[in-house]
Amino acid sequence: MLDRLDCAGRPDIKSFTFEELEEEITALGEKSFRAKQIFAWLHARGAESFDGMTDLSAGLRQRLKDSFALTALKTVGERVSAVDGTRKYLFCLEDGNVIESVWMKYHHGNSVCISSQAGCRMGCRFCASTLDGLARNLRASEMLDQIYRIQAMTGERVSNVVIMGSGEPLDNYDNVVRFLRLISHEKGLNISARNLTLSTCGLVPQIRRLAGEGLPITLALSLHAPDDETRKKLMPIANSYPLDEVIPACRFYYEQTGRRLTFEYSLVRGVNDSLSQAQDLARLLKGLHGHVNLIPVNPIKERDFVQSRQEAIRDFKNVLEKNGINVTIRREMGRDIGGACGQLRKSYMEGAR
Ligand code: SAH
Repeated sequence: MLDRLDCAGRPDIKSFTFEELEEEITALGEKSFRAKQIFAWLHARGAESFDGMTDLSAGLRQRLKDSFALTALKTVGERVSAVDGTRKYLFCLEDGNVIESVWMKYHHGNSVCISSQAGCRMGCRFCASTLDGLARNLRASEMLDQIYRIQAMTGERVSNVVIMGSGEPLDNYDNVVRFLRLISHEKGLNISARNLTLSTCGLVPQIRRLAGEGLPITLALSLHAPDDETRKKLMPIANSYPLDEVIPACRFYYEQTGRRLTFEYSLVRGVNDSLSQAQDLARLLKGLHGHVNLIPVNPIKERDFVQSRQEAIRDFKNVLEKNGINVTIRREMGRDIGGACGQLRKSYMEGAR
């Protein structure tokens, strides 16, 4: 229940499932079709306030105001890439926390990368989002509204959502699953589960649980190393969940959902980019129906990791391909606007301090 309250302790109407909203609205003595109307205002029509719901009576709008909080993020920053049109947004939450989201234009449609937590507590060494630890989990409404606000600002429909911004989505499991159900709801934005991707550093019990939610979304695993020893140098979570637990959990996810897996691999010079590591990776992923996304690490000033050389990236890719592994090199988007996860948020917070 806590996850459905705003910071002042009022029920957060945008985080209710359709069924919960129906219950709440009929409890106010209203007919259930009102719930449909209100749900559409919240999730399809982008209402930012109860007063914006113009086909409800003034009396009902007042009762809604008295009973619920309506989460609407405040945009406090926008940067547009001169290179590829990627846009980065900074949003302020009601408690003053700031989060970031990215809008990317592709041939197949518009994609938004959302944050699932303010900050993060996973401690991956190369990641800017985790440097100051976790501030708090985001509620479903705060994840949804990143997309709703961006659609309103760009005037263009969002067709794909990736949960790859700040935060570890499976560390905020209930809110994230609630978000996934709402964003794919037929009376909301109705984004198909096939167009939703969740990226995780590898929380094994939650991967297994997600496989049973009946939500056939794409699972992306942040792998970044083919062996535990190297992985531990980059990701503290590898101390809790070794690869011989993570990989079977991914296999289980594939078997349950039929969705092809994505493995993210950020290449760091001299750490995880050797040819023998590419061989090991190919061996590890054999028969997994996965796709490897190679990402040249985006250096952050707080750490001294360096991007792999172009030739090393190319050779690494070749080894995987020769071994029959599907692989792409991630096109870097928005490089000129603070591309790496959490970079923009961090510089904003530092400026504010
Ligand atoms: N917590 C989730 C999602 C957030 S990050 C996860 O770990 O998957 C999305 C992806 O970007 C992850 O694969 C993450 O490891 C990677 N990443 C974060 N910072 C990066 C950086 N500076 N350079 C390259 N990849 C980075």
